[in-house]
Amino acid sequence: MSDQIRMQNPIVEIDGDEMTRVLWALVKEKLILPSVDLKTEYYDLGLLNRDATGDEVTAESARAIARLGVGVKCATITSNAARKTEYNLTALYPSPNGTIRAILDGTVFRKPIGVSCIKPSVVTWKAPIVIGRHAYGDVYKSAEMAIPGPGTVALVYTDKQGRETRMTVADMPGPGVVQGMHNLDASIRSFARSCFLYGLDENVPVWFATKDTISKTYDGRFKEIFNHIYETEFKEHYQAAGLTFFYTLIDDAVARVVKGEGGFLWACKNYDGDVMSDMIASASGSLAMMTSVLVSPSGAVEFEAAHGTVQQHYYRWQQGKKTSTNPVALIFAWSGALAKRAELDNLPKLASFAKRLEQATLQTIESGNMTADLARLANPAPARALDSWEFVEAIVTRLP
Ligand code: NAP
Ligand code: MG
Repeated sequence: MSDQIRMQNPIVEIDGDEMTRVLWALVKEKLILPSVDLKTEYYDLGLLNRDATGDEVTAESARAIARLGVGVKCATITSNAARKTEYNLTALYPSPNGTIRAILDGTVFRKPIGVSCIKPSVVTWKAPIVIGRHAYGDVYKSAEMAIPGPGTVALVYTDKQGRETRMTVADMPGPGVVQGMHNLDASIRSFARSCFLYGLDENVPVWFATKDTISKTYDGRFKEIFNHIYETEFKEHYQAAGLTFFYTLIDDAVARVVKGEGGFLWACKNYDGDVMSDMIASASGSLAMMTSVLVSPSGAVEFEAAHGTVQQHYYRWQQGKKTSTNPVALIFAWSGALAKRAELDNLPKLASFAKRLEQATLQTIESGNMTADLARLANPAPARALDSWEFVEAIVTRLP
């Protein structure tokens, strides 16, 4: 079609698994390809292709995002013993998101997608809580060992001259497990900076919390770096903008979040961000009503859905049933990536299309057309929930 919107540089397109893979193709075919002369560099991170490539395709896709600047990713299965049998895999590989985040570093920002017919289950929330999740290290890049019997477990650091520093972790009286994890000052600094920049850009205060009373050295380092970056680089700007930075313990933060009004960026360590973003998303309506973007220190960005592959829906789809799986997070991953590509390549028509796609999606829901996860919560309640295909068609009719 000649009136299609042209692109200049490609987006890195990362395909995934199960129900989200089915919806990925649907969203592209019905919502994007009719309007955009789409240019992508395609990577298939479906579990079978990751297995066939010895997981090399995952690292390649991350390097492609670093090179091209913008990526969009479907949800992927993290393999485990059950998946190994189910898919007849040759090996177990780490979480693709973990691998990609370890290569790109940076921070994942997750923000609820609000619609007027759904109120958050926390009644005091007046404005969205955005999660800024550190994307590097900790338990996601750790070494673990099963200890077969009595013995000593130690941490050993060897410097470049070969000098060792050793510390006992535990004298194990019997079998058990051990885990070693790390982080890097440079990564924590860029995490802090991107959170403070986000706060300024979006005009919201920043909260940060760890467990530094228990983990004095590890979490203590996070606290120290955040304070230092704030004091030396951001405090003046925050004061001028009437914004604040608030540090507290993670358990205190959780208690305040559920009693508060929202409207801030909550900077979370990697694991806290994993857990808390699902809590915020569910309390805001649905796991599918959340945007998620990884911002690397180099400026490269990856848009994704924060939810998984919706496995149980996929099994129903395989039996020939139409499921009512919510594609909104996948649609917003695409609109986010197209908008970023438009910004970098200075393409106003593409930017405007991305905005219209988001508006049409929200208007569709607000006029009473939605999938089952939202229909359960909406007020007024719709007469019936749509399946994913009907929902996407309803968006098509609203896309100008
Ligand atoms: P999930 O796929 O997020 O699904 C959990 C439940 O949440 C679903 O059973 C469904 O509830 C609801 N749900 C999530 N997304 C939905 C959507 N778009 N529309 C409607 N309902 C939705 O998590 P999981 O079942 O724990 O994990 C499945 C697979 O996804 C696993 O193999 C895991 O490794 C992978 N995973 C990938 C990512 C990622 O790539 N970003 C993230 C998390 C998990 P109902 O069944 O009640 O309808
Ligand atoms: Mg998670």
